[in-house]
Amino acid sequence: MYECEFYDYCQFVLQVMPLKPHMSKLVQHLYCRINHEKCARYKVGMILGPKEVPNNLSPSDNYLANLLLERAKPTANGCCM
Ligand code: SF4
Repeated sequence: MYECEFYDYCQFVLQVMPLKPHMSKLVQHLYCRINHEKCARYKVGMILGPKEVPNNLSPSDNYLANLLLERAKPTANGCCM
């Protein structure tokens, strides 16, 4: 049972995990099953929407997740440019 609501269509699960079965078990254990709130992909998906999560964003790459979230923040005048 996976607690993450993105599991069935997460591109990391669908595209990367089948290529790396050992890493896949670890990621599922560390993130998808019990700790999805800590997953970088989950954070970006929850705030920007699942379609805005880069396919190659690793669940452990919180640095890139934070950059993506920072970049998406609107500026003081309401513009995000
Ligand atoms: S990798 Fe992250 S976003 Fe994808 S299913 Fe697992 S916890 Fe959810």
